Amino acid sequence: MQLTDDDRKLLTEYIGECFHNPSIAKDSLGYSFALCEKCGANRSGVTFRPFTTPADLHAVYSAMVEKGEWERFLNYCEGKPGSYIYLDDYGHIHIQPQTFAWLFCLACPEQIPERMKMVAEWIRERG
Ligand SMILES: [Zn+2]
Repeated sequence: MQLTDDDRKLLTEYIGECFHNPSIAKDSLGYSFALCEKCGANRSGVTFRPFTTPADLHAVYSAMVEKGEWERFLNYCEGKPGSYIYLDDYGHIHIQPQTFAWLFCLACPEQIPERMKMVAEWIRERG
């Protein structure tokens, strides 16, 4: 499951960070360095999150909680392969313990890109 640049841009902006648009600038001594045209980050500040690490996963899920969208996302996860999330007749969310391991890739960090891809698709669908 490959994350595209568009996926990474969506996720980066969802967590409130700059998806940098670096250009090359020169310092007073004539040395070239990267400078983001949007936020002004330069040199080592112009980095891109890969969305393949537990820290990235945590940042994305934390942003959902901060935005009050965590339940909405869990609703979206209902029925996804690997999730054990059910909505009852009253719309209440029921989550099995293995769902947390699945969501947070606890035993399988190599699946983090898949989970991040799922979030990017959710962001697109929710509009
Ligand atoms: Zn930037």
